[in-house]
Amino acid sequence: MNINILTEAELLLLNTLIDRSGNIIICCHRSPDGDALGSSLGWAQYLIARGKNPQIVIPDAYPDFFQWLPNTEKIVRYDKHRETVGQAFAHADLVFCMDFNRAQRLDDTLGAVLTASPAQKVLIDHHPEPDIDTALCISHPEMSSTSELVFRIIWQSGAFETMTKACAIAIYCGMMTDTGGFTYNSNSPEIYFIISQLLTKHIDKDKIYRNVYHNYSEWRLRLMGYVMYQKLNVFTDLHASYFTLTRQDMARFRFIKGDAEGLVNLPLQIKGAKLSISLREDTERPCKIWLSLRSVDSFYCNAMAERYFNGGGHPNAAGGHLDCTIEEAETIVRKALNDFREELQR
Ligand code: 5GP
Ligand code: MN
Repeated sequence: MNINILTEAELLLLNTLIDRSGNIIICCHRSPDGDALGSSLGWAQYLIARGKNPQIVIPDAYPDFFQWLPNTEKIVRYDKHRETVGQAFAHADLVFCMDFNRAQRLDDTLGAVLTASPAQKVLIDHHPEPDIDTALCISHPEMSSTSELVFRIIWQSGAFETMTKACAIAIYCGMMTDTGGFTYNSNSPEIYFIISQLLTKHIDKDKIYRNVYHNYSEWRLRLMGYVMYQKLNVFTDLHASYFTLTRQDMARFRFIKGDAEGLVNLPLQIKGAKLSISLREDTERPCKIWLSLRSVDSFYCNAMAERYFNGGGHPNAAGGHLDCTIEEAETIVRKALNDFREELQR
């Protein structure tokens, strides 16, 4: 089993960049998920242990059920503090880009702020085909999560001994959420070696699970029932399904950020299901539809997301967006399903 993933040259460069930088920013993708937050918080802990004072910047809000993560109160939101964040990027020496591969994944304007920043950039990510101008690009699409990557780098740097419990919690949370609680994308033995090591830091993995997955409002559960009962369109012959979530649905079920999380995985519980798609209206902007795709085995939904939904992602978990009405988006989804008929029926 090999935990080390950096070449000697990469490790040396990483250390040099950290050592000579005063102002360090850590940023992650918009609508931060458990891995974006976990990898950022974990990496911040590591840099703090090295005597640095990094600032974590996120584009916008994260779901309530990540609030309990240690040190979230120190995170700065770009959508609330544009001026301060703009200044920070203008004066940064080093920016770590966590869990995203393109500047646009930050946010339309924050992406431009990142690109314009004179700071050197280091990417730490597991999405395919990174496209950011970096001094060091640590891109490993074969990893389950960016948090796993963070663990490996810390391990390789010989800093596991001094890893804090807060760091271990953040890393575990990221690994857990990006694998659906270790139910997909989680067959590599190294993952379980890493978990066993994290447990030596006295993290309570069962509590972390409950904090994330058993921490919804009553209304989220009712929304889930409603969507599965009333809104799911199942195409049995295609082993595929989709559902829509409109602003009206969200108002009815007192929707808050994070309530849609995980819904798209549920239709994959249908026997033989290969693909599930969710279409969600933006909570504010008209004619902005967000799509999530999940698939199993050798049906690669990122290909569909790229071709039809201006997006991309991993082979079995992808996303994108459409600038049209929900009805028009449904038509596009149906066309995509039809065009992929052969692969879906294989
Ligand atoms: P989610 O459905 O959780 O929003 O996204 C699942 C995965 O799809 C993410 O981890 C990310 O890799 C990818 N993804 C989501 N939206 C986009 C997008 O607009 N562009 C690209 N390239 N990937 C996306
Ligand atoms: Mn991730």
